[in-house]
Amino acid sequence: MRNELPMSQAVPESPPGQLPRGLPEAARRAGGMLVDRHGRHVSYLRLSITDRCDFRCNYCMAEEMVFLPRAQVLTLEECLRIARIFVALGVSKLRVTGGEPLVRHNVIWLLERIACLPGLKELVLTTNGSQLDRFAPALQAAGVKRINISLDTLRAGRFREITRVGDLDKVLRGLDAAQAAGFQRLKINTVMIRGGNDDELVHLVDFAVQRGIDISFIEEMPLGDRGLGRRSSHFSSDEALARLQNRFVLVPSAESSGGPARYWRIPGSVTRVGFISPHSHNFCDSCNRVRFTARGDLYPCLGNNDAVPLLPLLRAHPDDDRPLGEAIMHGMGIKARGHDFAHQMDTPQVVRFMSMTGG
Ligand code: SAM
Ligand code: SF4
Repeated sequence: MRNELPMSQAVPESPPGQLPRGLPEAARRAGGMLVDRHGRHVSYLRLSITDRCDFRCNYCMAEEMVFLPRAQVLTLEECLRIARIFVALGVSKLRVTGGEPLVRHNVIWLLERIACLPGLKELVLTTNGSQLDRFAPALQAAGVKRINISLDTLRAGRFREITRVGDLDKVLRGLDAAQAAGFQRLKINTVMIRGGNDDELVHLVDFAVQRGIDISFIEEMPLGDRGLGRRSSHFSSDEALARLQNRFVLVPSAESSGGPARYWRIPGSVTRVGFISPHSHNFCDSCNRVRFTARGDLYPCLGNNDAVPLLPLLRAHPDDDRPLGEAIMHGMGIKARGHDFAHQMDTPQVVRFMSMTGG
């Protein structure tokens, strides 16, 4: 019989040696169980269910990627267990990601079960859209509320160059299917690449407006070593905003989707234009998330190498969630105050690619 959480019973008030040193007791009592050493509540988990992908986006992974052997990847049951423990500890929003989550066999089985976890308010997904034409209705039925679809260009040739293998038409068919399926919200995520797609930003916003969906522009992060550096391809949110303001009236909005994006509204349209600006508008002070990889590693900060490997614990205690819950709480004690991407544009300090941690 599995030893179910709630962790409020599993973890006593302040057992020495079990909770991270410096954990602010008052803050811990005020909300969920996950509070980092800087007093930030963690209520959002990004769960990567595979490091594999059917694309090879040139800013995200190497051309010749070596993927994890299957035995080192969490089973779907283990993914569900991790989700359940995090939700019991106070996580209310969970994003399933990857790699490409929709290439994982039986992904719908997992999503249906995560969506039902008591206490989870929102299950969302990030995808490259390549499989959405066949999965969109099933995702909606499974309880996924919102989907982010990565789309960096609307030109087929350029799409192929950036993704190295992807087919733009297939992704656009996937977007059609997602719109027809009736999700609460759909959003395009566009990584801005100087000389790569910065001439298309206006066009991409027009596209989002015509479709009545949101769009967020992301500053490229120095994650993983491509051997090229990232300084020359960096394109800042401020420059993008200035370009867009030449074409659209953009009204700043205080809305939040629970993430780091800052939003602008275009009067007369439902579209929100967001900017995720890890370089130019650091959002670490309000960070509320941690990441869990398909290899079973807990990464409290995307821009940092500190991790808690939990696969051994997961497999050593198949029927007792308590040691895992305690290890996760302990992981809050190593969450870095923030990233320092600005100084890593030539040589990244974070050696793992985004596809390995989960975006
Ligand atoms: N395969 C899915 C997709 O592409 O949406 C989910 C995983 S992907 C790693 C998640 C997001 O990370 C995508 O929007 C992708 O564009 C973004 N991303 C990948 N590498 C990045 C980098 N170095 N800097 C900024 N964003 C990156
Ligand atoms: Fe795959 Fe997404 Fe990375 Fe592109 S950004 S290679 S689709 S994981």
